Amino acid sequence: MELLKNGSAGSLVVFLQRKLVQLNYNLSLTGEFDEPTLQAVTDFQTKSGLTGDGIVGGKTWTQVYLGTEKARTATGRLDRHNNIMHLHPTVRTAAVKVVMQLQSENIPFKIFEAYRYPQRQADLYAQGRTKPGRKVTFAKPWSSYHQYGLAADFVLLINGNWSWDASGNNKFLWQRLHEIGANEGLMRLNFELPHLQLAGTSINALREGEYPPKSDKSWFDNLTSAIGV
Ligand SMILES: [Zn+2]
Repeated sequence: MELLKNGSAGSLVVFLQRKLVQLNYNLSLTGEFDEPTLQAVTDFQTKSGLTGDGIVGGKTWTQVYLGTEKARTATGRLDRHNNIMHLHPTVRTAAVKVVMQLQSENIPFKIFEAYRYPQRQADLYAQGRTKPGRKVTFAKPWSSYHQYGLAADFVLLINGNWSWDASGNNKFLWQRLHEIGANEGLMRLNFELPHLQLAGTSINALREGEYPPKSDKSWFDNLTSAIGV
């Protein structure tokens, strides 16, 4: 995803302006990163605790996401969660950029699931094995990147309904998801359409506690609570 700053133009700028309007800034959707847009961005950054430099990258998009996307409220460890703050910051930023870029192209993906507790992984693994239903995962607890906050699932949300449809023209929407994901350092698994995970590590490394650099407290605290230390 390109950095946006004063002088940028195009559909991503229109999308940013639309989001800023949602955040109560009074802006015209000009598609040009003009003076009023710069002022709105700088004000929003400052109020979000960021450096008010007027340059829109991962940190600013993450705050825009947090301010405009509804988080699913779930508390149990068997529940599906989509709280991006439980993702590792590198994956969190990448996932936000993927969703924002897709939405700016009018491809309505949302983050369906982010962190997944081992209890839920075990429950999903049982489906189609020791419980009824079809198999939905090959991964046992702690064998999925979801348990380390390093994966997210992206699903189309069309008229308020989740859609996994990849037939006909929809095929290209999923291709675009995978393409943008790869640009942001997230790789797909060839047997699972909605899933993107951090490239460049392995389950063996993660099981050994070798985590990616640049961690933060919200990711780390959640992970340690899931491990039970
Ligand atoms: Zn997944």
